[in-house]
Amino acid sequence: MKSPSSGPGPDPAVPAPGTGAPPPLRALAAPVRGRLALAVGLQAVAALAGVVPFIAVSLLADRLTDRVPAEADTLWPLVVLACAAGLVALVCGTAAGALAHVADNDLQLTLRRRLARHVGRLPLGRLTEKGTGEVKQAVQDDVGALHTLFAHTLLDVVAVLTAPVLALAYLVTVDWRLALLAVVPLALGVLLFRRAMSGAAAQMAEFGAALGRISAAAVEFATGIAVFKSFGRGGKAHERFVRATEGFADFFSGWVRATLVSSTAAVLVVAPAVVLLLLTAVGAVFVTQGWTTGAELVPFLLLGPAVAAPMGVVGPRIQQIRAGQAAAVRITELLDAPTLPEPATPALPDGHHISLRGVSFSYDGHTDVLDGVDLDLAPGTVTALVGPSGSGKSTLASLLPRFHDVTAGTVTLGGADLRDIPATELYRRVGFVLQDVRLLRASVADNIRLGRPDATDEEVERCARAARIHDRVTALPDGYATELGTAVTLSGGEAQRLSIARALLADAPVLVLDEATAYADPHSEALIQDALSALAAGRTLLVIAHRLSTIRSADRIVVLEDGRVTEQGGHDALLAAGGRYAALWDAQGSPDDVREGSAR
Ligand code: ADP
Repeated sequence: MKSPSSGPGPDPAVPAPGTGAPPPLRALAAPVRGRLALAVGLQAVAALAGVVPFIAVSLLADRLTDRVPAEADTLWPLVVLACAAGLVALVCGTAAGALAHVADNDLQLTLRRRLARHVGRLPLGRLTEKGTGEVKQAVQDDVGALHTLFAHTLLDVVAVLTAPVLALAYLVTVDWRLALLAVVPLALGVLLFRRAMSGAAAQMAEFGAALGRISAAAVEFATGIAVFKSFGRGGKAHERFVRATEGFADFFSGWVRATLVSSTAAVLVVAPAVVLLLLTAVGAVFVTQGWTTGAELVPFLLLGPAVAAPMGVVGPRIQQIRAGQAAAVRITELLDAPTLPEPATPALPDGHHISLRGVSFSYDGHTDVLDGVDLDLAPGTVTALVGPSGSGKSTLASLLPRFHDVTAGTVTLGGADLRDIPATELYRRVGFVLQDVRLLRASVADNIRLGRPDATDEEVERCARAARIHDRVTALPDGYATELGTAVTLSGGEAQRLSIARALLADAPVLVLDEATAYADPHSEALIQDALSALAAGRTLLVIAHRLSTIRSADRIVVLEDGRVTEQGGHDALLAAGGRYAALWDAQGSPDDVREGSAR
């Protein structure tokens, strides 16, 4: 048996922050680092080779404008050099792009496989909380952001930083004064850009917050419009949304106004036309003064704009680099999330008696949501959990299918600690039907077969009948073959009955059931009660009861308050005791009142 301290902890293979661990981006890219480095090298060669034809053309211009006519055999090598360099640039550039894409493709595959494997080993509780959105973000969006970074941005930045270096080096050899002039727009651009970006971090935070307010207001607007309209206040529905968008517009126009001059100037000053104008004007003075020749001006007109170009390209790419870094952090966090520890010495349950001893649980490590719970669920009995909202009923029930592991104490099934039972063995024995039914985008039959993929059609139908959903299924366009989630959507009550059929087929001897709080109509509710009775037969059942009327016949009723068991026993005994349960019963009134209340 495990000691209570051997709960989930950080994966020892992952270096803790602050211990010299590589930044997430570098660590994630490690498997393809060699190929990315080669792609970067090839791209640098391509960028350098791309400058050579311009140098060759300016040398040609120099020779062709000589007073002494140039010999053809001194010109041809330059032409050949220009063509060859152009070809090298093309080949290396294409190879770099292809290599980066192949490397990135492998990286995406590796990351998605790692994520899928890891997510499969996370505690179920993590996936039902904020989990699904987080997983979608990492697997889809964040891996996509890394693609932009590694397959595109990286090479763009290399190209735009390498070419100007060679261009500038050559220009210095032609005329250092004009070369210096060619750097002026770049230096000015950087200065102005920095000014425009000063305080950007704070502004970006406000930008994100303002966008967040809009999307929250938009959701509220979309989900609440019917309620507002039904109270004749249709106009009110969009008031908060409009206020949020106006707030955003004010903030944004204020930000733009404050930085408009410097950011426009930064873009203008490095624009090729402006650089060309500057070099032409000053160059013309140099030529007329005899400080330089017309031919020597040619390379400045050809290459000058390239020297300032990085500003225009790197600026916007900074955003992509930041997005890639943020994506890498999120992916790494998900990959580092502690998995459910697999038992070192697996144990198999002997029977299906469930026993909780001194069980405490805390979500945040500080506040105990469950506090020293002792409870036994005898095989073949129905135990109902009741208590005020927030008293810990769902949390307690979620410990049985190991959505979470206990913080202290033990939960055993057939004498074996749940943490020592291999996951596949546990889920063969413990099933659950939750309020929030998840149906897959698959046929009705496959949805029912989830827990037992090899079940025959007859078995599927038998369970569907027992769960009172068969008639509804046969009314669907393709019966059991109907795909769910596309053309056909089931109502909440129907989905719940389908999930009961699923649990019946999976046939786990222990079942955790979160009884739905409200059904649309009494007919549907009666069907669900029938389906639940079929499910209860012969099983150990733990029911989270929201309405006391339905659990009167439970073998045992357990009252939870503030994470502690305060009362337990049969319905009549608890009523007679006149304690907390009796008070709850009185508060809920007669079963009929309750039913009406819940349907409202
Ligand atoms: P009940 O089912 O009786 O309404 P719960 O078990 O859902 O009670 O909740 C018990 C307490 O635990 C509540 O205070 C609730 O806010 C808190 N809680 C429930 N789920 C989570 C969670 N995923 N993370 C943090 N706190 C939670």
